[in-house]
Amino acid sequence: MSKAKISIVKTGPKPDYQKIRAAVAEALDLIGGVQDIIKSGDLVLINPSWVAPPVEREAGCITIPEVPRAVADIVKEMGARPVIAESSAVGVDSAKVIQQSGYRDLLEMGYEVIDLKAQKTRVDMVVENGKVFDRVECWELVQQADVIISVPKLKTHDQTEMTCAIKNLKGLLTDKAKKAMHQEGLFEGVIDLLSAVKPLLTVVDAIVCQEGIGPIFGKPVEMNLILAGKDLVAVDATCARLIGYSPREILLTVNAAARRLGIMDADQIDQVGEPLENVKRRFLRSVEDNPVEVEGFQLIHDEATCTGCRNTVMSALIDMRNADQLMYLPGVTVVTGGAPLPADVASESVVTVGLCMQQDKSERHVRGCPPNNALVVKAIIGDRAEVKRMYAGESLDKTDG
Ligand code: SF4
Repeated sequence: MSKAKISIVKTGPKPDYQKIRAAVAEALDLIGGVQDIIKSGDLVLINPSWVAPPVEREAGCITIPEVPRAVADIVKEMGARPVIAESSAVGVDSAKVIQQSGYRDLLEMGYEVIDLKAQKTRVDMVVENGKVFDRVECWELVQQADVIISVPKLKTHDQTEMTCAIKNLKGLLTDKAKKAMHQEGLFEGVIDLLSAVKPLLTVVDAIVCQEGIGPIFGKPVEMNLILAGKDLVAVDATCARLIGYSPREILLTVNAAARRLGIMDADQIDQVGEPLENVKRRFLRSVEDNPVEVEGFQLIHDEATCTGCRNTVMSALIDMRNADQLMYLPGVTVVTGGAPLPADVASESVVTVGLCMQQDKSERHVRGCPPNNALVVKAIIGDRAEVKRMYAGESLDKTDG
């Protein structure tokens, strides 16, 4: 098997569009160009990460618009049609992410920027030899695309250790399919998705990344790098090494390599451009980060708890911290994702959160999928104080399960 070529290029600090465009072009040149995968007339789906707000570039949460823009400009020069398309995490309004971020400017400049959640037609993509699914529900545009390019943001992740090229593909799924993936088996389900949609290229936004409790509430880290490669497994393996992991610690990478969907071993990867050794930096891991630590408060996520409930509970806790309400946490246990209720905690102290807890709900259950974070705060503090609502934008009554 020939070696996978992965490039690393520096952008310099606080790069503007021209610098990012030059870095993306150099990163693609270093891997041999993209003429072998993109042909004139192709429909090219460029898939950034719009997981959820915050959308500011300093937060390191979503792929900044300049990176997919640079890819789109290169695709356009080749006579193909670039479409920047994505759907945010379960329960997050992608249209708001577009409107609040620089993606709105791209729309105004005439780029095709598509909120997949607003698409009408869903299609089942067939998974050959899937381990969890024999088909995955995506949007029609995903099936229509001649070429799919993953343009992730490099971050640590509270479920999967790291999120990058492979995990980013979940943005091509419907919310229903995203939930099913978390419930049926994320670590092989995402690999089923990878094998179904067959992306041909990744361009990584590693300009401002996140460490700690990513993918939304992590701490920003300036790396000022663009990475590119045509083997998504090799891209993720290289990014893992870049941020201080062995790729063997990243189960999505391990599972994808085991199914021969790409290369993980360093001696099979031809790393070009900036040497990894010169730019690597150990990222704080999710388990090493605890933005809201309160003695006597317990948070129990199931393995199946998806970003929807993890994000909801974390933003509820951050709301409480910002409102000086952490004194209501001791004695409370929050349970999500279908995790078993703790036997040693009195039922009145348990707050169950989300549709996945419906079968085992406590008296202080919070409905929704994902639930509204203000309702989580309300379930914790009851009538003892007023709910201050920093993150929640919806009505307290608005839930869907
Ligand atoms: S209830 Fe929560 S964990 Fe379950 S699918 Fe919905 S958002 Fe995900």
